[in-house]
Amino acid sequence: MPAPLKTVESSSPLPEAADAVIIGGGIIGAFAAYYLARRGMKVALLEKGRVGAEQSSRNWGWCRQQNRDARELPMATKSLELWERFAAESGEDTGFRRCGLLYLSNDDEELATWARWRDFARTVGVTTQVLSATEATQRAAWTGKPWKGGVFSPTDGTADPASAAPAVARALLKLGGTVLQECAARGVEREGGRISAVVTEKGAIRTKVAVLSAGAWASSFCRQLGIRFPQATVRQSSAAISPGAGVLPDALHTKAISITRRADGGHTLAISGRGRVDPTAQFLRFSPQFLPMFLRRWRSLAPGGLEGIRSGHESLARWRLDQPTPMERMRVLDPSVDESAVRLMYERAAALIPAIRERTITAKWAGYIDSTPDGVPGIGEVTGFPGLILAAGFSGHGFGIGPGAGHLIADLVTGAQPFVDPRPLHPDRFAHSAWGRVAEF
Ligand SMILES: Cc1cc2nc3c(=O)[nH]c(=O)nc-3n(C[C@H](O)[C@H](O)[C@H](O)COP(=O)(O)OP(=O)(O)OC[C@H]3O[C@@H](n4cnc5c(N)ncnc54)[C@H](O)[C@@H]3O)c2cc1C
Repeated sequence: MPAPLKTVESSSPLPEAADAVIIGGGIIGAFAAYYLARRGMKVALLEKGRVGAEQSSRNWGWCRQQNRDARELPMATKSLELWERFAAESGEDTGFRRCGLLYLSNDDEELATWARWRDFARTVGVTTQVLSATEATQRAAWTGKPWKGGVFSPTDGTADPASAAPAVARALLKLGGTVLQECAARGVEREGGRISAVVTEKGAIRTKVAVLSAGAWASSFCRQLGIRFPQATVRQSSAAISPGAGVLPDALHTKAISITRRADGGHTLAISGRGRVDPTAQFLRFSPQFLPMFLRRWRSLAPGGLEGIRSGHESLARWRLDQPTPMERMRVLDPSVDESAVRLMYERAAALIPAIRERTITAKWAGYIDSTPDGVPGIGEVTGFPGLILAAGFSGHGFGIGPGAGHLIADLVTGAQPFVDPRPLHPDRFAHSAWGRVAEF
């Protein structure tokens, strides 16, 4: 079942030329296109299915600085400001609110990790409130349980995954940009080494700049161009429960269950980090590089099935530019739900907050999270490929930093002074091992 998602109209026809072509209409591609259009560029946003239909509508909607890796934190801070500014400057609603995020725990090790992050965050001017046992228990009185401690991050918030990417695409249309859905990019052409066109299923668009924001499909697309981008996907399931009586938090994380208020007044349930790995040829190819990541996360991961192979997003096959590609056969990656995980999350949520028993499950879905070996995205112009900007591998936390990532991409394309140091994010680092560099959260 797909996650709830609003729609945006497509433009027609295919433009012959554009200043920049964005491949992939998730939150990253949509914001990159928007910020490029705001700088006066003629932009075409290509989406093989529907804008926002993959990861960008299947997430919890958390927009957080809390527990961010140092390499992403400046972008996360800027993103919060940009989420707010976007609504004001575009008139479009992404559902963003600074509701604060609440973390509760009875695990000493987890609490120590959060306290360490607080100490680091202070050094870069980010405020978070580490809660004592009394404070955490008081703040979470609706659980009726004692807590050893917690964290409240007052400046963080949530946006609505069903609205956000379509809202940004609508803002792009208002700026004169082009949004093409059901229009897969099959490849690129080059002249003198530089990008000269993006070839789509509906024809070619001449351009000197292509941004590859293709989420879980980025690595197989790169492979066609001879670019090695190590990427792995993990299938995670979530459920939505109906709106109803009872005090439920806006955004709560515990080890057992995470609960997030949805725009319709219902809540999304999920178990942080829990997922299934569906083995594929690409997974086997890159698995040595993912060893440090899987060693850190293996407790929450379970083996999956064959649907990763059936989906085609991690195919090692080569495709031709004049024939349908795996992207046209799978317009929207909509993997099957892990029913046992959904049952478990409902039981855990109800055990924590008994009022949840009055709610029913109204939707459930799964999404493939695309990860890099160190859990930090790859953003930057691909070395040896002038004009091709890679922006993928957001590793389960790209929704909240969508505006910042889009802004950074626009900085890189236009040659403006980047608002954050882009070097730690550059994809060149994937040529080296990720040992000692895996993001903690
Ligand atoms: C269950 C779950 C919970 C999450 N929770 C959070 C959270 O609370 N906070 C947070 O910050 N992040 C969260 N994330 C992660 C977040 O959703 C992703 O990091 C983010 O949405 C990635 O955005 P994207 O644009 O890179 O990818 P996507 O949203 O996957 O978009 C990529 C798009 O590219 C399109 N595409 C691919 N190839 C082509 C092609 N050749 N031509 C045209 N189009 C193409 C695809 O159809 C797709 O729509 C979560 C993810 C999941 C699955």
